Amino acid sequence: MCQNCPQPQGFLAELIDNGLLIDTGVDGLYGRSGLFEEVVAQFDLLITRYGGKDGAEVARFPPAMSRHSFEKSGYLKSFPQLAGTVHSFDGDERAHAELLHNVAEGHDWTGGQKSTDVVLTPAACYVLYPVVAKRGPLKPDGALFDLQSYCFRHEPSKDPARMQLFRMREYVRFGTPEQVTEFRALWLDRGQEMMASLGVPLHVDVANDPFFGRAGRMLANNQRDQRLKFELLIPIESEEKPTACLSFNYHQDHFGTTWGIETSAGETAHTACVGFGMERVALALFKHHGYDVARWPAAVRNVLWP
Ligand code: ATP
Ligand code: ZN
Repeated sequence: MCQNCPQPQGFLAELIDNGLLIDTGVDGLYGRSGLFEEVVAQFDLLITRYGGKDGAEVARFPPAMSRHSFEKSGYLKSFPQLAGTVHSFDGDERAHAELLHNVAEGHDWTGGQKSTDVVLTPAACYVLYPVVAKRGPLKPDGALFDLQSYCFRHEPSKDPARMQLFRMREYVRFGTPEQVTEFRALWLDRGQEMMASLGVPLHVDVANDPFFGRAGRMLANNQRDQRLKFELLIPIESEEKPTACLSFNYHQDHFGTTWGIETSAGETAHTACVGFGMERVALALFKHHGYDVARWPAAVRNVLWP
């Protein structure tokens, strides 16, 4: 065991002691047990029971995206502090010997690494916009997608609900402002009904993204004032600061303009997405119903294992 590393405490320590999360030595990077994964899988099916009849196109991408698309998306303007990029060795034998020497000496060995064409996916929907743009104008009823991906955010934390790699299921709607705001309103209702059926305390509130820097504060205020982002919050790590487990985002024409996505009438498309934090919901269930799933309330078990 690492003598210098502080041992996990509180809820995180309990999750590890009960075998639900597996410590890797890095904050926010955990293995998941079979039971944890079963709860995630049953919640995934529950989402589909609510949203599956809407006719969304299902698409699953690996947890990475094109660096070129990532640069164009504007993510680095808003959230440079969260981004994760993939670099790789690209040198000759001399550079290799130098790399091994630096590793052996405990020096920084990453200086010679070159960026690849791949970055880690920051939110499941980021991969989708360039794909939809390439298909040309939307149909009159717009478009609807069902996504799920591991996502990376560089926000190491002792709070088990703030991971560096976690799964996000999303429904993403493209269309006119009316079509996408109707979609978001529908999911605000559905999301609350769905989570209430899981017997966890919750409330919905207006929210903002963690935009970077001084200019970011203005963007965050603007996002709140215009009520563009709502979160469904459940106390997990703390009672005072409940955790966003679902989010409901209206991007207006931000991605439509960035990617040149048009409606059938030739207007810039608007977009909205609802995101489900798969690990956060599983953690909320263990937090509020305990570590022994057999003893969870029958009503909750019946919803998850119908
Ligand atoms: P927070 O405000 O807690 O940083 P967020 O609202 O910025 O989260 P979104 O960008 O809206 O998160 O991501 C969609 C969903 O992904 C969130 O509702 C949440 O459930 C989940 N999520 C976001 N960040 C994390 C994380 N670090 N670890 C686990 N789940 C996360
Ligand atoms: Zn999204």
